[in-house]
Amino acid sequence: MNIHEALKVLTPDDIRVLQAIEKYLKQYEFVPIEVLERTTRLPPHRLERSLYKLNSLKLIRRQSAATLGYRLTILAYDVLAVLSLMKRGVIEALGDKLGVGKESDVYLGIAPGGKKLAVKFHRVGRTSFRHVVRHRTYKVEDSWLLQSKVSAQREFAALRELYEVGAKVPKPIDRSRHVVVTELIEGAVELSEKPALNDPLKAFGDVIETIAKAYNDVGIVHGDLSEYNIIVIPETSEAYVIDWPQYVEKDHPSAEKLLRRDVEYVVRFFKKVYGVPAETEEVLRAIKGE
Ligand code: ATP
Ligand code: MN
Ligand code: MN
Ligand code: MN
Repeated sequence: MNIHEALKVLTPDDIRVLQAIEKYLKQYEFVPIEVLERTTRLPPHRLERSLYKLNSLKLIRRQSAATLGYRLTILAYDVLAVLSLMKRGVIEALGDKLGVGKESDVYLGIAPGGKKLAVKFHRVGRTSFRHVVRHRTYKVEDSWLLQSKVSAQREFAALRELYEVGAKVPKPIDRSRHVVVTELIEGAVELSEKPALNDPLKAFGDVIETIAKAYNDVGIVHGDLSEYNIIVIPETSEAYVIDWPQYVEKDHPSAEKLLRRDVEYVVRFFKKVYGVPAETEEVLRAIKGE
């Protein structure tokens, strides 16, 4: 079962049940059946049927320990987000997967009217092999769904401010839950692929300008900048900085160290691959206007 298949087989009853479980995401790890009876107000046989179906489709998980209860799976959270974005008229269709990152899946989206979108599903905890301690009482921090939502909120807020001050980032469009929608930068490839560029200095300048605008006009540092989080359009040598959820505020104790590291990686890559003659300390001074 994937997002596309799930969207096709869900009935209004199923969606109502998923939404009811989601409503208690912060209160319960597993939402008790009685709460769902109350919240959905579905007749017992219809609720039963829906829970059985959702469980076999792996959209929910059942806990049949002391009390019978249910929680959403990541797939269900994906589906709820996509349904909301469709209802709001942001996405008309969800396309193929464009990329799998360490902390996200990025899909192609189509807006009503045909414009192409990047639909980024945040996945906090996917690469974390840290054993999750089972707490006696459920805490919000235990939920990877809620952590993924926080990550998406951070990224969306940062993108809005960055776009506002004219930084080269994909235009943010909307967010639902753990999903961020931006414009798709068409024809862009990751800088890590080392595409041939007519004007590598232009691409380098775009990146440094974005770091400077983030620092001076928004007051943040990217914190995970490298050739993997820069996309370029080879035809025009335009470069965009993507992947912002881990940004830190300028007054964060690690901000200066992260800024230097971000600049160092960019300078080193452009020097090595495109022969751009730049020097980290000098670029840092320029960014800070010193
Ligand atoms: P990481 O593994 O570095 O943490 P991530 O999972 O956080 O990555 P992103 O870096 O934001 O995710 O995006 C993953 C990939 O999807 C990018 O490297 C890029 O190829 C593609 N991508 C993301 N946003 C866009 C966009 N707006 N336009 C075009 N391609 C995009
Ligand atoms: Mn990363
Ligand atoms: Mn990335
Ligand atoms: Mn990332």
